[in-house]
Amino acid sequence: MISNTWSLSTKDFRKDVKLKETLFTLANGYLGVRGNFEEGVPQNIPSTKGTYINAFFESEEIKYGEKLFGFPDKSQSIVNLIDAQSITISINDEKFSLFEGELIDYTRHIDFREAVAHRNIHWKSPKGHEFKISFKRLISFQVKELFLIDLEIESINYSGKLEITSSVNGDVTNMVAENDPRIGTSSAQSLQVSGLICDNNFSFISATTNNSNQEVVCGISHKTNNTVNSRANKKSKSIEYTYTYHLSPNEKIHLTKYAVYTDSRRYVTPLQENKLLLYQAVNKDFSDYCKEQNKYLNNFWDNADVLISGDDALQQGIRFNMFHLLQSVGKDKFSNISAKGLTGEGYEGHYFWDTEIYIIPFFLFTNPNLAKNLLEYRYSILENARNRAKEMGHQNGVLFPWRTINGDECSPFFPAGTAQYHINADIAYSVIQYIEVTDDYRFLAEKGMEMLIEIARLMYETGHFRRDGYFCIDAVTGPDEYTCIINNNYYTNALTKHLFVNTEKLYHKLQELQPAALNTLNAKLNVAEAEISNFKKAGLHMYLPFDDKLQIHPQDDSFLNKKLWDFKNTPKENYPLLLHYHPLTLYRHQVCKQADTMLAHFLLGDEKGNQQIVKNDFDYYEKITTHDSSLSTCIFSIMSNRVGQYQKAYDYFMNTARLDIDNLHHNSSDGIHSACMGGSWMSIIFGFAGMRVKNGSLSFKPHLPDKWNTIEFSLNFKGRKIKCSINKDLTSFTLLKGKPITVQLNSEDILIQ
Ligand code: BGC
Repeated sequence: MISNTWSLSTKDFRKDVKLKETLFTLANGYLGVRGNFEEGVPQNIPSTKGTYINAFFESEEIKYGEKLFGFPDKSQSIVNLIDAQSITISINDEKFSLFEGELIDYTRHIDFREAVAHRNIHWKSPKGHEFKISFKRLISFQVKELFLIDLEIESINYSGKLEITSSVNGDVTNMVAENDPRIGTSSAQSLQVSGLICDNNFSFISATTNNSNQEVVCGISHKTNNTVNSRANKKSKSIEYTYTYHLSPNEKIHLTKYAVYTDSRRYVTPLQENKLLLYQAVNKDFSDYCKEQNKYLNNFWDNADVLISGDDALQQGIRFNMFHLLQSVGKDKFSNISAKGLTGEGYEGHYFWDTEIYIIPFFLFTNPNLAKNLLEYRYSILENARNRAKEMGHQNGVLFPWRTINGDECSPFFPAGTAQYHINADIAYSVIQYIEVTDDYRFLAEKGMEMLIEIARLMYETGHFRRDGYFCIDAVTGPDEYTCIINNNYYTNALTKHLFVNTEKLYHKLQELQPAALNTLNAKLNVAEAEISNFKKAGLHMYLPFDDKLQIHPQDDSFLNKKLWDFKNTPKENYPLLLHYHPLTLYRHQVCKQADTMLAHFLLGDEKGNQQIVKNDFDYYEKITTHDSSLSTCIFSIMSNRVGQYQKAYDYFMNTARLDIDNLHHNSSDGIHSACMGGSWMSIIFGFAGMRVKNGSLSFKPHLPDKWNTIEFSLNFKGRKIKCSINKDLTSFTLLKGKPITVQLNSEDILIQ
């Protein structure tokens, strides 16, 4: 039973400690702190203590058994930072721990409208001393460097001395997991403490990464009342403050811990900035920050909330997902959104195509500035992508990295990494979608067009016109990572066609709208009209594999000639297959990790296309897709809706919307699945509401699952804010902001005014 769909709560502290550390992570796109217990957990309880800054990374030489030309040299891994979470409570010789004494009452919760995590504890020590303890924590959306913990202790029956020890600790390590590619692989000790300052109530630890030479500073300070005594203890890598109190029954003590993080990627002098920020931060109380936080969140939910009435579990799941997307998304020019957000070290904090294809749509329709920031990040790494293209033997254009933090490719396994050239087309798709939804031609003129042309150049050079005149792309990998290095991947070709055709269109649109800007760009990139016509020609002649006999689109040239995977004799425990079979075994079979051809249909399909073939493809690929990637079920949910298989649409969505809360992939303890979270939003809007954006306008074909009464959501579209409300027999639109606009509902025009 879900008692409140606006919050995540638990009464159990023992079960799934590490998973809950992920789920109760607080973050603001810059700083993320896992939901660890301040007082710690016993050694035998699996736990990962973690604090991360988006885009702050360590780099190491990648060790290959056999290194070939063009393999990336260096890894990039998000770093577990100086720890400011620890606070212990002692009553003479007893220490507070949930795992000792008696827990009379315990609740832990986060309200997604507050972004404050609470733990309310009623505890009796082994010797019978009883307390009510409340921890609250917050990572500010207003002051991005600030992390706060607010502690209140009330004595119920105890009279005597109580000590609170609160520390900042630079002796931290990263996770190392050799046998699972989805977890971090860097070495454990990434940070070296380079300075400790203990200046009365203000302490600062500076630490530097061994190789990437990035510096982080954590400063802490406390506010408390009625102390009998306080002392600071400076050790070699940590500083501890101990506050002593004298408590009587019904008396309360209160302590607020302020922690500020600054880093050398953003600040030239992180220590100086840290001091300034910390001195300023302590001028306000915890409650002041709560008010600001609430205001920020209200604004976010005003644009983002999706209401599902009739299904509380899903309602909670979707809100949890949107909350985590907001927490995870980079909001400055250094950062993007990583596969695990800021909740863990899985996938080493890397940015993937997940951003453009799975996450940007959510922000684009609810908070377009955040979507723009993500695209601007890609623009900021254009030079890295230019260099990478050269390294990969291309004369022209850019090749975006499959995995990266700083813009350089760091994917060591090229068949399911660098070979995924579709990342280029995905970024282009997102630029085109951004323009279509916002009409932001300024962005197009300043950044977008340059990206499109450079991407198109690389894809044009990678492909070639075959003897029969078709444009083909060889030796790439599509989204499905169980099928690698193949010719004419349907998805890659279809998205590249979209890129070519739209680059030509937008180029001429810009010529009309902003000729001066286009001239500057032409000069900068040395573009000639003939080159643009070549793109168009390649687009029109793009080869899209089709099998006449089966009436389906083969995933690539060789796919249908491979053996079918023996699903019947594959034991349940062998999933995900990638952890149990050599990649070559997978590559030799028709077996898919995730949506590939179906994803192309979702992104590009329009109602005028041949629906029977889409259905045939759905039936074919559904049978051989394992959904071993969390990026898959959302696409199958949307496509189930499109092909009229409504029960399946719901079932796939169930696997998507609560994937992390219910730990359906059994690895959420290593971090959330941010792409899947974005996918859950898409499943509702593009799936159940049946929304499409075509030729600059919106259309809807809703179909609600039986269990749902209503869905309601708002969309930002071309400067308007439109509220959509869909129930079983009525769909209504309300214009909340902007000029009247016509949309289509079940193929009929409707004017919203
Ligand atoms: C998927 C990729 C995805 C990556 C990060 C992999 O399991 O196959 O498509 O980009 O996870 O989420």
